[in-house]
Amino acid sequence: MQGKQGLTVKIDPHRCIGMAKCTTVAPGIYTIDEETRKAVLENAEDATVEQLFAGARACPTQAITIEQYGRRMYPHIIPAMFGDAPDEE
Ligand code: SF4
Repeated sequence: MQGKQGLTVKIDPHRCIGMAKCTTVAPGIYTIDEETRKAVLENAEDATVEQLFAGARACPTQAITIEQYGRRMYPHIIPAMFGDAPDEE
C-alpha cells in the first residue's frame, strides 16, 4: 500500500514465518491471516508511521520492507565496498 508520507509497505510472504512479532508491536495494523498464517497489513490508513516501522523492525526475517516515494527506507541496504583490500602483513 502507498499511504502516509509516500510510504509503501510490502510484506514478503516467502520471508514471513508467522512469528507475529509485528502484530505484537503494532496490533491491529499488522495481523496474521488465518488461512495463510502470514502477516498482512490492515487498517493501513489508520497506521502511524511509528507503527509501520515498529512492525518492520520487530520482524526477525526482515519480511517487511518500507519504501518512501520508491526509495528503500527499511531495512537499510548496505552498499558494497569497492577498491582493493589493505595488504595484510
Ligand atoms: S514479524 Fe515478520 S515473520 Fe513474524 S509475522 Fe510479522 S512479518 Fe511475519
